[in-house]
Amino acid sequence: MSNLSNPEGARVYLETYGCQMNIADSQTVAVVLRRAGYARAESPEDADVILLNTCAIREHAEERVLGRLSDLARLKQRRPALKLGLLGCMAQHNRAALIDKAPWVDVVAGPDSYRRLPELLGREGFDPAVDVRLDRAETYADIPPEHDSAVRAYVTVMRGCDKFCAFCVVPYVRGRERSIPPNDILREVRELAADGVREVVLLGQTVNAYRCAEVDFGGLLRLIAQIDGIERIRFTSPHPSDMSDSLIEAMASEPKVQPYLHLPVQSGSDRMLAAMDRGYTVEQYLRLVERLRAAIPELALSTDIIVGFHGEEESDFDATLALMRAVRYDHAFTFKYSVREHTRAFKLGDSVSEDEKSRRLSAVIALQEQISLARNRATIGREFPVLVEGAARRGEGKLAGKTPQFKTAVFGAQEDARPGAMVRVRVESATAHSLIGTLAAT
Ligand code: SAM
Ligand code: SF4
Repeated sequence: MSNLSNPEGARVYLETYGCQMNIADSQTVAVVLRRAGYARAESPEDADVILLNTCAIREHAEERVLGRLSDLARLKQRRPALKLGLLGCMAQHNRAALIDKAPWVDVVAGPDSYRRLPELLGREGFDPAVDVRLDRAETYADIPPEHDSAVRAYVTVMRGCDKFCAFCVVPYVRGRERSIPPNDILREVRELAADGVREVVLLGQTVNAYRCAEVDFGGLLRLIAQIDGIERIRFTSPHPSDMSDSLIEAMASEPKVQPYLHLPVQSGSDRMLAAMDRGYTVEQYLRLVERLRAAIPELALSTDIIVGFHGEEESDFDATLALMRAVRYDHAFTFKYSVREHTRAFKLGDSVSEDEKSRRLSAVIALQEQISLARNRATIGREFPVLVEGAARRGEGKLAGKTPQFKTAVFGAQEDARPGAMVRVRVESATAHSLIGTLAAT
């Protein structure tokens, strides 16, 4: 293999776990490495370097990566010159334990160390090259990421999180909140539009906490909406406490900002919300939902729910089911509480048994399926503009795309319905997860 102090032509394979922020970070890593002379490998077998960009949000996510590392250890046994690197949140979270469990890893780099990856990969020696310094100033603003999809692109607008919810490891692994200057974001979005991207998804752990000098998140949405060629703007994840009037106004008045909001609630019990340090009560959250629906009548809502947080009693859990019935989300991401080292809740313990967490999780999933199905069925007979993404995962010869509400629409292919085209789809039937329809005349 190539000498990595001179990586010209060395091939790197990048595997990504976790959230959209990690997908976007991998696109930044790809550019850092390309600029240093690396080429992309199509498979791990073809690679001189394999990098796993990891997630630490739940124990299960970490276990998956450790399992993958054991597979890769066998590859490294056959090809000792192969370099293995662990990037991202898990690298930041538990580097010592990690190096203990997987001593064959060559490089460990946290989310603020990607600029130094070429140097870390070039180091020779028996011990892994580790760089997990968190850097308040690092935004990678000058590294426009390499995007895969021609239709939709992720654009990171802020990094880190200052909220410190009691259960969450993100502030510890991604560091303090920092926003990317609007001019850098606008430049990136203009370049994407010129490349044919039609939809941008603005990313940040608390994306609506965005602020750079005079520009808040509502202002940023308005600036991006002026860029020709971009037809749809979305963002994730906003925090309920940062849903300002300016943001709601921008969503209501800018037609390019799509009527879909992922608004994580976590629990429907005030006692749990306080223990989680979420910064709002159930009533405040419900009032926010009312304001949003009044301002944006076609709004679709999704959420994140954690079941079995330490101290969650049956009555707290019932309150979560009641909140789900009250809000009637279009979709919910549901999780069993996973104790994370370094977080404030770590010391509290884990009072709900695994079996009980599983029971509660099944109950929230079943309830959400019912609600999603009813909400999707309510769209039967209506028409929606759909941005075509490509072939549907299921259904021979069918195409798929998203409605403004971020629902997947599946419909019969036709000549002019290519990826990137905006078509109108008439909904004819629905499942809990998608709308099935036909192309309507435009
Ligand atoms: N910043 C976003 C917010 O505040 O809503 C969410 C970021 S986090 C990557 C995504 C979701 O993972 C959270 O909303 C929460 O539901 C879940 N999560 C975070 N820590 C967790 C833990 N320790 N156990 C289970 N789920 C967790
Ligand atoms: Fe984690 Fe809370 Fe920050 Fe979201 S807002 S990333 S849940 S600490």
